[in-house]
Amino acid sequence: MEPCIFCKIANKEIPTEFLQETPEAVIFKDIKPSAPVHYLVVSKKHISSIKEVKHEDEALMGHLIHEAKDAAAKLGLSGYKLVFNVGREGGQIIDHIHLHILGGWE
Ligand code: 5GP
Ligand code: ZN
Repeated sequence: MEPCIFCKIANKEIPTEFLQETPEAVIFKDIKPSAPVHYLVVSKKHISSIKEVKHEDEALMGHLIHEAKDAAAKLGLSGYKLVFNVGREGGQIIDHIHLHILGGWE
């Protein structure tokens, strides 16, 4: 099966500028921003959706939120939204877990 696009980005098979990188996650700009500032926190582990998160992934999920907080501070956002879209009806298009950082409104 063709690896998913976020696996390719996380594995650096598609050159992408990372705002942050850790052994578990990468953060980069959304290609089609839905807010003045829009970044994605992407797990390096392929998990297709929040629906597939297991107990063993709890620390990883906390890490994604912690990285989002650090990224938001780095971006100078005093307030912002953190969003997981879950399933097609929830607006999820890419089946690889990612946390949206949305902000920069007046
Ligand atoms: P979802 O709707 O699955 O929660 O969010 C997927 C997000 O990934 C969308 O906001 C979309 O603009 C972004 N996206 C899709 N493909 C790429 C890509 O190749 N590069 C980047 N940087 N963002 C992407
Ligand atoms: Zn993937």
